[in-house]
Amino acid sequence: MTDKVSKAKRSKIMQAIKSSDTALEKDVRKKLWKIGFRFRKNVSDLPGKPDIAIKKYKIAVFIDSCFWHGCSLHCRLPSSNSEYWVAKIERNMRRDETVNKYYREQGWNIIRVWEHQLRGNHDKAINEIADFIELATLKTTN
Ligand SMILES: [Zn+2]
Repeated sequence: MTDKVSKAKRSKIMQAIKSSDTALEKDVRKKLWKIGFRFRKNVSDLPGKPDIAIKKYKIAVFIDSCFWHGCSLHCRLPSSNSEYWVAKIERNMRRDETVNKYYREQGWNIIRVWEHQLRGNHDKAINEIADFIELATLKTTN
């Protein structure tokens, strides 16, 4: 199958997908910070590089882009080069599973939030993340 858009254009589209995710993550972090949570972002010394992490309480929050993490509802792969994309997204999904397993085994509190949850009922999604962090904090201090 051939793509309707040029290679250069496709590359721009993919770049836009990436950067809009970043904006979404930034927004989440800003709101959680405002609520009063203190955390580190994009923690590269932890597996899977959590978007938000609080090591002290073993909390890891991942915000998963519907495209890059293969959301069954919204991941629409470009029609050109489809084998490449299928392989890439499948690799990402397998990596997510490995990462989840690692944190579970280490006794971490891990939550994955889909991009579509944040784009849909944004406040509800933020509340869920906040509740999750709060509960995980209490669990560790008690
Ligand atoms: Zn989705």
